[in-house]
Amino acid sequence: MEAADLKILLVDDDTFMLKLLTKMLVNHGFKSIEACDNGPDALKKIDHPQTRPDLILLDLNMPDMDGIEFVRYLVERRYQGSLVLVSGEDERMLKTAEKLVHAHQITMLGYLHKPVSPDKLVNLIKKWVPSEGNQQVSSVAKKNYDAAALKSAISNRELVNYYQPKVAVKTGAVTGAETLVRWQHPTDGLVFPDQFIKTAEQEGLINDLTSLVLSQALAQARVWYESGYVLRVAINVSMDNLASLNFQDLVVNLAIENGLSPQNIVLEVTESQLMSADARVPLEILTRLRLKRFHLSIDDFGTGHSSMAQLRDIPFDELKIDQGFVHRAWADETLRAIYDASLSMAKQLGMEVVAEGVADEKDWFFLQQTGCDYAQGNFVSKPLLADDFVSWMHAWGDRVRQGKLLSDSA
Ligand code: C2E
Ligand code: CA
Ligand code: CA
Repeated sequence: MEAADLKILLVDDDTFMLKLLTKMLVNHGFKSIEACDNGPDALKKIDHPQTRPDLILLDLNMPDMDGIEFVRYLVERRYQGSLVLVSGEDERMLKTAEKLVHAHQITMLGYLHKPVSPDKLVNLIKKWVPSEGNQQVSSVAKKNYDAAALKSAISNRELVNYYQPKVAVKTGAVTGAETLVRWQHPTDGLVFPDQFIKTAEQEGLINDLTSLVLSQALAQARVWYESGYVLRVAINVSMDNLASLNFQDLVVNLAIENGLSPQNIVLEVTESQLMSADARVPLEILTRLRLKRFHLSIDDFGTGHSSMAQLRDIPFDELKIDQGFVHRAWADETLRAIYDASLSMAKQLGMEVVAEGVADEKDWFFLQQTGCDYAQGNFVSKPLLADDFVSWMHAWGDRVRQGKLLSDSA
């Protein structure tokens, strides 16, 4: 592809800035430039194959959806293009943001200070290279499944639960598993949740989806229990599930039906969803479930904006530090600072802490040194089919007994 054919998307709430950047780019021969003055409009362009950009120039400070939140949505969409951050903030702020983007494994070409110098802009863009396998990945990842397809997938039970182990960092003991749904599509193969959960939420299918995932997960917990494995099984709950008391009844009834103790059932709710809209009803439902001794977990911690006071008011048992702040936290001051703050906040509030995205040995030993309670991530195990879980537990037990995973003090 010629550089001039590069599809560039500008996202900045300042329309003067948009005009200025467009002009600079046109002057340098770029032909395909789109501009959006807000995040949601830009996401629409990204979702559409015709307007999907190869490169995004993103302003960090925007009033509604800020740049960091925008990056989060790019991650959800498995955006394969590149990113340049643009901001009037000081160097330190830009560097911090750059590290966050790297942590999410998005290709970042660099950052630009406002006022933007045309030379710097062009030099950065010259660094753009097409990402490998770009076409293939994005055509699969971007496939949009409509409500009808998803509805029939739910009723035909094409949704399959995978289970990712959670283990105690000190002892290596397997304590539980998080249920992660996939769609075993008859022609497209295994489809990941980021390609259909949003549709399920938007199209009013999330209650059916969650109730299928939950009933499969609790039936599986019962099977493990009968084989002598008491595992705490977690499921992901969407905010829309918490809109009516039916959800509470569903959870309670399924627990009773399967003879499981509520303490061994964990409901994970993401921090950003909880802190958004009006969360009064959801909070009431969560609090009632907590009174019945179900475990509540706050997911993707660090990506929302909850304050200490808000956390204190909600009786969470567990806090999951988002993988963006766990992997490589040992190597990066900024990530480490967020990781440390989350850990100590949780401890002060008496919550157990799970680090997500533990991807290698260095991450694992970092958790040991810092006193994190539980680990989840590909270093321990990728998500597994239920049929593979018990044999994995044996293999992991062997790995732990070999002694290399536990520090001397443990
Ligand atoms: P999540 O709850 O934060 O789940 C963790 C995600 O990180 C999973 O992605 C998991 O496969 C991935 N992961 C685990 N270990 C590693 C690692 O070491 N490195 C990296 N890079 N990634 C790792 P998955 O399965 O694609 O799920 C994505 C999201 O979809 C979940 O994020 C969750 O928010 C949502 N989701 C999954 N199942 C359900 C469900 O049944 N209901 C709802 N409402 N949401 C679900
Ligand atoms: Ca989760
Ligand atoms: Ca998470």
